[in-house]
Amino acid sequence: MARAPAPHSLRSTMNFAVDHIGIAVKSLHSARAIYELIGLSVTDEEEVPAEQVRLVMVPVGETRLELLEPTSDDSVIAKFIAKRGEGLHHISLRVPDLEAAVMKLKQNGVRLVSEKIGIGAGGHRYIFVHPSSAGGVLLELVESEH
Ligand code: ZN
Repeated sequence: MARAPAPHSLRSTMNFAVDHIGIAVKSLHSARAIYELIGLSVTDEEEVPAEQVRLVMVPVGETRLELLEPTSDDSVIAKFIAKRGEGLHHISLRVPDLEAAVMKLKQNGVRLVSEKIGIGAGGHRYIFVHPSSAGGVLLELVESEH
């Protein structure tokens, strides 16, 4: 629905963004091809042993696609693919103040995947909101760089 945002709400969303969209795939090698065909560039493969995944990023405008391939049958991504097949896994939103956002979510009974803010591979801070509290979408919140 088209609705003109008030100037105030425009200003207050400036520090928010879709940081990336996570997609679970069986093979990075085959999954990346479609993006390269349409002219996007894909980063080198990077392994995250803690998450048991290998990933590439596909920058698209101001956001990125994150292709995630499991490196073990025990990984969260492997289990997701076994249960639901390849596809959209999570949406990552950048917020200006993660601590404040998490506190508000907790106060309002929102279900988080883990209680504590995690530290990612690149040192970024993140937390996951359970799909049961976010319209069926696994929501990752990461903090904006100031
Ligand atoms: Zn992610």
